[in-house]
Amino acid sequence: MQCTTIRSGQNCPFMTKAGCSFNGGVCMPILEACEGCGRIIVIDDVQYCSVSPNPMARWKVGNCNMATHVKVETKVSAAKLNPIKASKRMAGKK
Ligand code: SF4
Repeated sequence: MQCTTIRSGQNCPFMTKAGCSFNGGVCMPILEACEGCGRIIVIDDVQYCSVSPNPMARWKVGNCNMATHVKVETKVSAAKLNPIKASKRMAGKK
């Protein structure tokens, strides 16, 4: 349903015939941690998240999983397994 509060005219899953059903009835502005994210939208000079009405909830348990500016580092094992040698090793055990 179309929003009639902050994001006036945009479709929002929280909007009902009785008004905004989101906790508090309005979207919350972004947090400091959100700065640099590509999902930020500016409405009336206030920055909001285009994904979530409450950015604080997205950062509650670690990094926001929708953030475009957060790089997640994955550790790559230094000892890479050679698939050919592994195959020969397995064949030798029979
Ligand atoms: S997607 Fe996450 S990091 Fe980006 S603006 Fe929304 S809450 Fe903030």
